[in-house]
Amino acid sequence: MLTLGPSGRTTAVHRSLALLVMGLLGVACSSASVSDETDTETGPPADQAGGSEAETSTATQDPSERADSEDEAVGDDQSGTPGFTLDGEPIVVVSDNADCVISPRVIVDGDTSVNEVFRDIGMNVPKSDPEHCYLFSAEIPDDLRRHHADVHQKLIDYVGGYDRYVHITYETEGDNSEALEVLDQFGYFYDNNGQPVDPSIDLVYDRRSCLSGLSRENNYDGYNDFSFCNQPNPLTDPMWEWDRENFGSDVFMYNIINGWVHEYYHHVQRAHTLERSLGMPADCCGGRNHTGSPAWFVEGQAQVFPTLFLRDVFDDLQITKDLGLEGACADDPRLNGNGPDQPLRERVSWQTNCNMTQKFEAASRAIRGEGDEWEECTGFSELEEMRETWICPGHMEILNFYLAYLTSFETLFISLHEDVWALGFEGALDKHFGLTKDELYEQFNQFMRDNPTPPEDFFPTERLDELVDFWVIESGVG
Ligand SMILES: [Zn+2]
Repeated sequence: MLTLGPSGRTTAVHRSLALLVMGLLGVACSSASVSDETDTETGPPADQAGGSEAETSTATQDPSERADSEDEAVGDDQSGTPGFTLDGEPIVVVSDNADCVISPRVIVDGDTSVNEVFRDIGMNVPKSDPEHCYLFSAEIPDDLRRHHADVHQKLIDYVGGYDRYVHITYETEGDNSEALEVLDQFGYFYDNNGQPVDPSIDLVYDRRSCLSGLSRENNYDGYNDFSFCNQPNPLTDPMWEWDRENFGSDVFMYNIINGWVHEYYHHVQRAHTLERSLGMPADCCGGRNHTGSPAWFVEGQAQVFPTLFLRDVFDDLQITKDLGLEGACADDPRLNGNGPDQPLRERVSWQTNCNMTQKFEAASRAIRGEGDEWEECTGFSELEEMRETWICPGHMEILNFYLAYLTSFETLFISLHEDVWALGFEGALDKHFGLTKDELYEQFNQFMRDNPTPPEDFFPTERLDELVDFWVIESGVG
């Protein structure tokens, strides 16, 4: 079942179990996408606060296992940067229920920083053959696997593959033997005190969250952290029963896909902050040296991306071809909702969020005070910087489109990521927009009051990957 990975590194392959594990990533997930799941089943529809961040803990390592890893660590430093080694080569696992590359453990010598290590191993560099790991219970239907593979390959081709992304889709009552074996090799099965525990799907389920983190042996030292989407099968998870029944299976699958794209884009965002946590200093659950990226940016930018990506690839999606729905997302459609009386192509388009002008108009109505009765949002302010206090999460996507409108999509998707590590979010905003956050809010609110409908060139008609070269990004410098 195991075969060697493509790496040219010459150190010995290390297949020992019990090394790595799960940790923390700084992204709390969100949006109306179905697969954004946290432990809270009653969270607001637009986002789910910070509850999906795994907690930070300091592990106590088992000396008997350290001995093994130290033996392996004596190899050449293939990295070119003194001060750390990789514990073997990436391990490729391809089986019925796993399509996985397990990144080798980083072993640090001295005080080499996470930044140095991550830059050296290319954590912030898009790749066409990234170290990703997709795991399934044996019971997960072929169609879901097929769509999963299709969408993730398209993501890699479009925005780039970033290493250390792990996604498991599972049934708690299913056959999870292969997935558990792989997670064990990530060192997942450790408690918060850094002690090994028996592998079980119940433990995985107790930690369910997308997107949070995984760190070898629950160590959370930053060097060996992964993005982890830990997702009970959305096709059977009771959490989504209402959605499945009311949307129907085809529409619901698009909702799942939207969620996959949103979560993967969070992984992209995180890759460019290197050792810094993506978020606000006051965000929950620990983290280190936060970038000061507001919730409206982290979540809103991760909505602009799926909106444009799914619009651009819609006709090529396997599910679209299966259903014969080509063209349903073209030309910024104006839709009547996703109710049961609407035709399938409209409900699918609605779930894919490609009705951009309508979303703009809804945001404008809210900020002009003409929103629906239940509308809380009357304009952007610092309240939108924290998930605990935001009242406009349904419109933050438009504020991110506005950033691109003021400058370019290249600025939104490349420049801000290139500079956020060195300058923090506020510094990057000042550099590229000449605005403070408060000035931006004031300017945006006025813009939305003045424009009930979007200006002619507010939304792009070109493909996003023609406007932005995602492959030339150079982050983490400066
Ligand atoms: Zn999110």
